[in-house]
Amino acid sequence: MKRVFINLLFVLIGTTIAWGQCRVIAHRGYWDTPGAAENSRASLQNALRLNIYGSEIDIWLTTDGHLMVNHDEDYKGVVLQQATYEECKELTLSNGEKMPQLQDLLQMMKETESKTKLIIEIKRHKTKPQNEEAARATLKAVDEYGVADKVEYISFSLDACLELVKCNPKARVAYLSGNRTPAQLFVERLTGIDYSLKAIDKNPHWIDEAHGLHMDVNVWIVDKVEDMRRLKAAGVDFLTTNKPLEAIEVCKAH
Ligand code: MG
Repeated sequence: MKRVFINLLFVLIGTTIAWGQCRVIAHRGYWDTPGAAENSRASLQNALRLNIYGSEIDIWLTTDGHLMVNHDEDYKGVVLQQATYEECKELTLSNGEKMPQLQDLLQMMKETESKTKLIIEIKRHKTKPQNEEAARATLKAVDEYGVADKVEYISFSLDACLELVKCNPKARVAYLSGNRTPAQLFVERLTGIDYSLKAIDKNPHWIDEAHGLHMDVNVWIVDKVEDMRRLKAAGVDFLTTNKPLEAIEVCKAH
């Protein structure tokens, strides 16, 4: 009887620990506020103030080696991966900010006392050399600003992910495409899966498989409270969301 009780206790503790680790990543920053815009300085500043786990951004490499922060490949007719910095630098976001370069946000990361990490998504460029070059340029910029411990990396491009771990074996790198098992990625030295809600619902066993390999499980885009609750109960580590305030409440609830 005593042994049964002790086993039950361990199960309960294990469950509590798994739930306690659910953390929030603001998708493209916390942009849904007056004066902010997706992938802006303001949305990063908002996320830093929330002190959540992470604030996600998207980056593109220009033809002359600059890293522009934006989600869409084509912004107001400028295809970022086929443009020069000169062609990008006057692009204006919906909140009036000029489109940031990665360096602008790294400077904010350097100055902040917030614990929030910058989760850098290297967008999938058209060619393997572009994806690898984007990965190297990103690592170089992060090193120059001395914020390696404040950033993590994600990409739909496996080439970009592999280049990241090759150049910096200590980097936290998660793959986004949802078409590889955690075990396959573990062999490639990636540190996590960052999969869509649909991919995780189709393969719920990947959560335990990843954890068994000490890999992180991040799920996007989780905006409904009922989805947040069930993913938390399933032991997911990170919820990437456009609704960080709601996710904070779900993650801290018992
Ligand atoms: Mg993204």
